[in-house]
Parts: sequence; C-alpha cells; structure tokens
Amino acid sequence: MDTKNQLLRMLPSVDSCLAHPQMQVLLGMYSRHQVVKSIRVAIQEIRGGLLQGDDNTLPSEDALRALVLEQAYHRLGATQHFELQSVINATGIILHTNLGRAVLPEAAIEAITAVASGYSNLELDLTTGERGDRQASVKGLVEELTGAEAALVVNNNAAAVFLCLNTLAQGKEVIVSRGEQVEIGGSFRIPDVVRASGAHLVEVGTTNRTHIRDYAAAIHQETAAILKVHTSNYKIIGFTAAPSRGELVQIGNAHRILVMEDLGGGNLLDLSSFGLSPEPTVKDSIAAGVDLVTFSGDKLLGGPQAGIIAGRRDLVRQIASNPLARAMRVDKLTLAALEAVLELYREPDRLARTLPTIRMLSLGERELLDRAHKLLDTMEQVIPNHGDLSIVDAFGEVGGGTLPGTSLPGKAVAFRPHHVSAHGLQQELRLVQAKNHIQQRELFPVIVPIQDDRLTFHVRTLLPGQVDAIASALDMVLGGEVR
Ligand SMILES: *Cc1c(COP(=O)(O)O)cnc(C)c1O
Repeated sequence: MDTKNQLLRMLPSVDSCLAHPQMQVLLGMYSRHQVVKSIRVAIQEIRGGLLQGDDNTLPSEDALRALVLEQAYHRLGATQHFELQSVINATGIILHTNLGRAVLPEAAIEAITAVASGYSNLELDLTTGERGDRQASVKGLVEELTGAEAALVVNNNAAAVFLCLNTLAQGKEVIVSRGEQVEIGGSFRIPDVVRASGAHLVEVGTTNRTHIRDYAAAIHQETAAILKVHTSNYKIIGFTAAPSRGELVQIGNAHRILVMEDLGGGNLLDLSSFGLSPEPTVKDSIAAGVDLVTFSGDKLLGGPQAGIIAGRRDLVRQIASNPLARAMRVDKLTLAALEAVLELYREPDRLARTLPTIRMLSLGERELLDRAHKLLDTMEQVIPNHGDLSIVDAFGEVGGGTLPGTSLPGKAVAFRPHHVSAHGLQQELRLVQAKNHIQQRELFPVIVPIQDDRLTFHVRTLLPGQVDAIASALDMVLGGEVR
C-alpha cells in the first residue's frame, strides 16, 4: 500500500505536463482547453490503473510523465481532423464549387481506394507486358459515350481549353462572339485564357446578337479557329441571336478553319427528363461536326475534377504531344474515379440510383417531403423549445456555374431560433467541429443558408445519415441550454 501511495504522489501535475515541450506542439494545433482536458483524462486513467494494479516496481517520475503525455497525445489524435474535411451541404445547391462540386459515387470511391492503396497497372499493358497508355480505358469510354474519334483528359476544363488553343491556335486568331466572353468564378475568363494560350482573340457580334455573317467577315488567312463558348453561368434573353452549331461547322469547313466548343458542364445525358431545360449533350456537339469539344469532369458529369477533350483524332494527337499536356496531366486517382463514373454512364437508366449528382437532380417531391419530415422530427426531438420549426418550399440550384436561371423546386426545414440570432447559429454550425472537445461522436460542420431570418436546411443535397448528423450538430451547439 505504501508503494501505491508513493506511486500516486509521483503522478505529474497538469501544469508540469503542459509545460513539457511535446505539449507545446499540441498547443499550436488544438485549443488549450482541449489539451488540458486530454491531460486530465490521461492522468485519471493512469491513476486508476495504478490503484488497481499490483505491480510493485517503481517507475520513474519521468516515465510516468511520458506515459501521461503519450496517452494525452493519443486522445487528441482520436479527434484529429484535417483542415480539409467533410461538411454537410444543406444549401440545396448540388454542384457547390465552394463545397467541392460533385459528390463521387461509391463505385469511384472504391476505385480510388483500390488504386491508392497499392500498385496498379497505370502505365503497364497487362496483355503485352509493355508500357501502356495511362488513359486508355478512360479515352475509350469517352469515345464510346460521345461518339468522338479520340479523347484526352487533363486537370480541369480551364486546362483543356488552354491546351487546345495553345496547340492549334498559337500566334493565330481565334474568333469568339461578344455574347460568349464568359467569366467563371476564380478568374477563368475567356479573353484572358485565349491571350495566355498565345492566340489572338477576335471578337465578333454584339453582346446580345451575333450572326453567321459576323463570323464570316472576321475570317482571313490568320484565322485558326472559331471558339463557341457555353454561357454557363448567365443567360442573355430578349432580342438575341446566335448562329447554330451547324452553321458554324459549315463556315468552318468552307474556310478550312477549326470549330471548337467549350461546353463548360458538358452533359452526357439529356437532362430534360429531370424537368430541366434541354441542354446540348457532348454527343450533339460532336454529331454536329464540331472538331473539338471540352468539358469539366466535376460539373454535371458528376465525377472528379478533370477536363475532357473530345474530337478529331488528328487534332487530339497533336494536343497530346504538346509538352504542356504533361504539365496538365491527371493522376491515377482521378483516372480511377473518372473511369468508374464513365462506366456508370453505360447504364443511363440506373444513373438516378448510382450517381449522386443525378440522384439529387432526380429526387421527386414525395421523397423530398419524406426527408423534410424526418429532419423535422429528429430536430424536434433533439432541440425541443429552442425555436420554431416548419417545413417550407425552397428553391435549390444545380450550381457549379451550370444552368443559370434554373431553380430546382425543393423542400427545406426552416428553423427560427428563439434564444440566439440566426446568423450566430449559422456560424456556430459552421464551426461545430472546432467545438468538439474530445467527444466520442463524430461531428461535421453544417453549411446552411438563411432565408427570412430562418436557417433553411435544404434536404435535396443531404447524403445518407446526414439527418442525424445535423441533429447532432444542433445538439452540440444548442443542447442543454433550454431544457
Ligand atoms: C466551368 C467552366 C470552365 C472551367 O472549368 P473547370 O473544370 O472549372 O476548370 C470553363 N468554361 C466554361 C464555359 C465553364 O462553364
């Protein structure tokens, strides 16, 4: 018994542990509160162990302190999170650029995990044992799904547009309508990209009306291409005119210049079956005779960040041999995910179940209402008497700079808090994980908009299990205050 008392007296104090250099590092990563708590719990556990144990050998004071530090360290590690972390998207915006655009399907996650956790045949042809093409399968799928002769995948669509122009129009002129001088968020501007690629921009037409004769008048010896750009994030309505794809192809052929199209989101699917306005598919563009089409992997396609170039074989070959293509090439994880996503498109009828982006788009009113009721009930249980809860109609968006002016009628749970401001609560829900002092449960920041002084939890963009996760976050922030 004496030995035990001696042992207990040797346990280090919280302050002495805090002062240890090893803990200084942790103080830079976690709040002081978190670190102190982890040390306290570690000391308590070790004390418990000492009281129960019958080992009478005396460890040194230093050894005990080291043990405390190690356990405290471990405990903090259990709630460790990275700066880039999962959040819950309750905005109703499916392709939210700030929230990482498309959610990948299970098939893509599995493909990434398999390729990431070991070696792969990235550049090995398993049939011949020779060096293989890292993009072979993805290229084949793009060709099959778009009808294009050839394809190439690069880091994003901005890179795709740049690379096409740099390869085929450097030092020459590229004609773009004034109505299509697009700026995408994050400094992608068509005039700047054309200039940076080394091509000279020739603007034709006016903001609202450009005619085929405007293009024709601008073509001369130095013209390399006509670039048609999808006005992804705005709409020009009213007194407008733009030549059809067919007319552009015709004039391009007649003058032996290229016709390129930056499709932005690049649908592989006709979206009108989901009640959205019909948008041209990549296949439509290729079929109309456009020489090269570029589009994003993580917009409506629903895949990883990537830029896809599809079109004429001779042109794609030229583009692939541009030294800059290497600087823009995608890694094996992207290829794994993209192959898995494109594979899903081979069974388009199942996409509403297999691909999260399409699944969210295709949710019907009954499903949305069911979800809203489930969220409302769960919230009522977890935070009763904290505010007014109701189910409301709420408009979401496809987002990601696609389908401007198209709103998706959806459902949301509106919450008007009684004891805190809506803006205060909105911020607390964003910071929820930072508040998670050494708790067992996992918490995720919730991103939710405010409408009419009420937090409006859109249900369309929630993923399985997130109804409960929202309730946990609210419980963390509000729970215990008014019971
Ligand atoms: C989104 C978009 C881009 C940029 O695509 P990223 O994949 O984000 O680089 C370029 N052009 C158009 C028309 C777009 O809509």
